[in-house]
Amino acid sequence: MNKKRYIIPIFVPHKGCPHDCIFCNQKKITGQLEEVTTGDVNTKIKDYLNTIPDSGSQIEVAFYGGSFTAIPLEYQEKLLKAAFMFIKAGRIDGIRVSTRPDCIDERIMANLKKYGVKTVELGVQSMDAEVLKLCNRGHSPEDVVNAVWILKEFGFSVGVQMMIGLPGDNEEKAVKTAKELIRLKPDIARIYPALIIKNTYMEKMYIRGEYKPMTIDAAVELSKKLLILFESNGINVIRIGLQPTENINLGKDVVAGPFHPSMRHLVESLIYRDMMVHLLKMAGGRKEITLRVNPRNISELIGHKKSNIDFVKSNFFIDKFEIFQDKSVEPDTLVLFLGEKYIIMSKKDYYSISSK
Ligand code: SF4
Repeated sequence: MNKKRYIIPIFVPHKGCPHDCIFCNQKKITGQLEEVTTGDVNTKIKDYLNTIPDSGSQIEVAFYGGSFTAIPLEYQEKLLKAAFMFIKAGRIDGIRVSTRPDCIDERIMANLKKYGVKTVELGVQSMDAEVLKLCNRGHSPEDVVNAVWILKEFGFSVGVQMMIGLPGDNEEKAVKTAKELIRLKPDIARIYPALIIKNTYMEKMYIRGEYKPMTIDAAVELSKKLLILFESNGINVIRIGLQPTENINLGKDVVAGPFHPSMRHLVESLIYRDMMVHLLKMAGGRKEITLRVNPRNISELIGHKKSNIDFVKSNFFIDKFEIFQDKSVEPDTLVLFLGEKYIIMSKKDYYSISSK
């Protein structure tokens, strides 16, 4: 049986970060202003563990938020040790950290290894030198390549985080970034459409009219392309879009930009809409349609606020549109019935069509 995965997030805000990326205000994003202590780590882990079932769980502590490996080694050790105690006691299975690509070296890696870190996620954001410069990232695409090599040498599972819609970025550069990252064979990826967070330089640019964020539709469309690229190459995309928190919501700390609390759902729904469109084109001008789908995928098929159903009905002039949830249909697959005959399309089929 597959174990259910749980992440216990511990945010280490902006600590030790040697740069000020124009889109970042870690204190705002994490909602955490104070320095994290070993006592905080201890309490947080214990509190979370009380809510997680003892058996059948795969539990990791994640140090997110700032640039973990850029904080003084002594402080890294303190925090790691506090979490490592729970590994030794058999209460958690591992630790993951997020950091910058230019804050990776052999000494730091050896320390992470020593304390049970399994995964290191790199904030890459872009593999385009101009975008990195405009965003004041302070590292180069080459730093990303070096960092991934070192991480792989040490046997870490590697995560890459990329952003879309940053100043100087465009679709071509985003696709190129994804392709370059894919060549590095990371284990996991995250896609974040750039948002304008309060008290950042990007907010100033936005107010001065020097920066225009992506629209939601454009961000969903591009995220879909990138998701297909990563997944077709066997890379698991574990998140699309910033996680909503009490403060991360439009009108609060997010001033503007393509924010949606269920960005991933919007992207997946768009994939299902495309799959339906392919099937309907193959069916050719039917007025009555019956689709069967595994219950796991019903919500993506219907789309946000039934948007997929409305889209298909109005674009294909369908009079009767029936959808059945059917456990015998493979997950990630649609079956379109045409009287005696039927056409099947899996997500994999769709990916191979769309990547041609
Ligand atoms: S490196 Fe990370 S933590 Fe530091 S300013 Fe940039 S985005 Fe924020």
